[in-house]
Amino acid sequence: MNEHGRVIRFAENEQPAENMATEHYVSKYLETALRADAFDMNNEQKIDVIATHFREILHTLGLDPRNRPSITLFENKYRYNQMLVEKNISFYSNCEHHFVPFMGKLHVGYFSSGKVIGLSKIHRVVKYYANRPQVQERLTVQISKELQEILETKDVAVLIDAAHLCVASRGVNDSDSRTVTACYDGRFQNEETKSNFLSLIK
Ligand SMILES: [Zn+2]
Repeated sequence: MNEHGRVIRFAENEQPAENMATEHYVSKYLETALRADAFDMNNEQKIDVIATHFREILHTLGLDPRNRPSITLFENKYRYNQMLVEKNISFYSNCEHHFVPFMGKLHVGYFSSGKVIGLSKIHRVVKYYANRPQVQERLTVQISKELQEILETKDVAVLIDAAHLCVASRGVNDSDSRTVTACYDGRFQNEETKSNFLSLIK
């Protein structure tokens, strides 16, 4: 019986394939850890190699402004002048300190300045900024500023509720904690408007 409680039977002279695979894996692992040239580079050279790769990764993952979503505005012909909330937008990003994922939900509220955008465009803006290595605080501010520019209004709220795998898998090993950041501008700085937004995203 193996460690998963399953019974494995082998014919008389048959070697257990599973063990062979494990041995192969172990030898490969040791080979990697003890590469002959592992200590050929000094720290400066290692930093240089890592920095070069990191720059490329940053660029590839979304610092290219050509990937910025193009947004078309529509007339607010329904004359809806109340708060619009787009909530529970899922996102995945990578923490730029540890290069491990952080992910969660993002909520947006805004008041139309007379123009509106397609709802999926809000998701595209989120994706564009989340696609690069990030810190949650900056992600919050960048999305808020971008939406303010697109919507031609300061009346924008952005709230992010995220789990950071760097907190869950390293150091303090806390897999239950969440990080919440928020950016309230324009009318959302009014306490009543803010609490209305917060009650709508619950
Ligand atoms: Zn981190």
